[in-house]
Amino acid sequence: MIIVLKPGIARKQETTILREIRKRGYKPHVMRGVARIVIGAIGDELTHQSLETLAMVFPEIVESVMPVQKRYKLVSREAHPENSEVPVREHFIGGRRLHVMAGPCSVESERQLLTTAVAVKAAGATMLRGGAFKPRTSPYEFQGLGEKGLKLLAKARRETGLAVITELLSENHAEMIAEYADIIQIGARNAQNFQLLIAAAKTGKPILLKRGLSMKIEEWLLAGEYVLANENANLMFCERGIRTFETYTRNTLDLATIPIIKNESHSPIVIDPSQGAGRADLVKALCKGAVAMGADALLIEVHPNPAEAWSDGQQQVSLEVFAQLMAELRPLAEAVGRTM
Ligand code: PEP
Ligand code: MN
Repeated sequence: MIIVLKPGIARKQETTILREIRKRGYKPHVMRGVARIVIGAIGDELTHQSLETLAMVFPEIVESVMPVQKRYKLVSREAHPENSEVPVREHFIGGRRLHVMAGPCSVESERQLLTTAVAVKAAGATMLRGGAFKPRTSPYEFQGLGEKGLKLLAKARRETGLAVITELLSENHAEMIAEYADIIQIGARNAQNFQLLIAAAKTGKPILLKRGLSMKIEEWLLAGEYVLANENANLMFCERGIRTFETYTRNTLDLATIPIIKNESHSPIVIDPSQGAGRADLVKALCKGAVAMGADALLIEVHPNPAEAWSDGQQQVSLEVFAQLMAELRPLAEAVGRTM
């Protein structure tokens, strides 16, 4: 901890603080500046009383108390300097290969899902997305096919070899989802549902953690910490846009999270341009930006007939547009040292 004292502090007051720091189990190191004194306190906060209350207890002496270490530990790059590669069937996310997870927002029918799966596989996707339990804003909108949808995803995997990613909405469904999914998606609305994160982590399946609608990056990293702290090392962060004042797009896709997450964490970063902008016409450009900036994977909504989709039709790309997109991404990926 770094303790900054107010300017013009008397010797006696300094001694009071030093005594208090030692009493709480820390070793103080005093740095004397021109205007003020800064104290570095060495000790372990897990086993000692926190120093954070010093400014509250001695408001006339202490200006501020700041932690030196990050609040997240296991997800931090300091804890694990190399990139983590997340194993998903025969693939690794976070390595040289750029992975594309593609498929409909919601699983609607066998025909819809299998047509999409075959087409995205042919275009070069390695994973199939599809929601069976949907977090809809209104209770009167399509809520997903439930376990029937999961069975269709499993069938599509058998027929195409694509790995399956699908969302977990409730702790009660953790085991069921884990039975069918290769990756468990935690959606934006549940990004800080810590009991759900723990239940998902405990299945042992790789976890894709979306960023919450108004979540700060530190909060997102700390939510990821729940996964790693529950003995599941296979975490991926997924940026899907945050809510801002802008109305041209459904959300504001924050591509700055790519270098930031890469800097702060060893876990892969995935970009979802579909929820990210809420507009099919922006998906190509956002994917290109994400690949150029070093995203490890893309999560893209693709539908055989977006105009008739049961959810998120306005942001899903057609099978044809998806194939064009993949062809346009390939040289870009190569230019930044990735394969597809
Ligand atoms: C989705 O992927 O369809 C979805 C609901 O995502 P989010 O949680 O990011 O809104
Ligand atoms: Mn969607």
